Amino acid sequence: MDIKTYVLKRKQYLKDKITRDGGTPSLAIIQVNDDFASNKYIAGKINDAKEVGINATLIKLPETTAMEVVLRKIKKLNKDPHINGIIVQLPLPKHIDENIIKEAISPAKDVDGFHPLSRFKACTPLGIVNYLKDEGIKISGKNVVIIGRSNIVGKPAALLFLAEDGNVTVLHSRTKAEDLKRYVANADIIVVAVGRKHFINDEHTLKKSAVLVDVGINRNDDGSLTGDIKPGRGVFLQTPVPGGVGLLTRLTLLENVMEAYLHGI
Ligand code: NAP
Repeated sequence: MDIKTYVLKRKQYLKDKITRDGGTPSLAIIQVNDDFASNKYIAGKINDAKEVGINATLIKLPETTAMEVVLRKIKKLNKDPHINGIIVQLPLPKHIDENIIKEAISPAKDVDGFHPLSRFKACTPLGIVNYLKDEGIKISGKNVVIIGRSNIVGKPAALLFLAEDGNVTVLHSRTKAEDLKRYVANADIIVVAVGRKHFINDEHTLKKSAVLVDVGINRNDDGSLTGDIKPGRGVFLQTPVPGGVGLLTRLTLLENVMEAYLHGI
């Protein structure tokens, strides 16, 4: 099933579940800027939430807000029994320490899965693994190559694929180009989260049976978006950009909020 149809189906399921339950799961979004891209991403998240019956509240603070003020807001939300999930939109202004903020969110409400002790898995890798499993793609015993080792994508993806018994290899900027070619040529599943347009391209030999998961979001000169993998590689499955992993990430945030609502303390 293509990702758009899959996401629509899962959202409908979530909406039905919320309607049946009769309550309203709630998400608080903290934003500390008036950045164009952040505004756009947040509007998307609020819209997604509304579609399925989740109440999303935006707490928008000016870019000059002191870190202590943001921390106080988070503490208040941590204690608020009406709030199930809390997310802080990144990037944060330079004077605010991202790690301190992430760790201030209660692990029970950290629906982005950024807190080291969070009960939730990071949305992007969890969305990918759930999708592949639902599509019947076998992970156990398969050679899974993850390119990129960020805390929000590469590293948690490696742990999730490992938990599914994949043979996981993580590559990064210190990996030699010739080694990378060798690893990808032998891979059954390749997750690319580098942030470079068409990083995987015709120079890379791939298995015909390979599954390519493109996490990258890069902007073309005309403003349109493209991924880290050159489109049309003729493999078994290649996720598109746009309309691919981004949709899975957004879906998983909603699913994490629902889980926080159902199982929160
Ligand atoms: P990031 O924090 O910038 O990490 C990029 C990773 O790529 C790093 O681990 C880096 O290695 C590695 N890398 C850089 N050059 C490389 C090279 N030549 N060979 C191999 N690895 C290389 O990025 P991120 O936050 O993970 O995001 C990656 C991309 O995914 C971005 O385009 C971002 O916009 C997109 N993204 C999309 C979604 C979505 O929902 N679709 C979600 C999150 C991110 P080092 O660690 O050695 O520096």
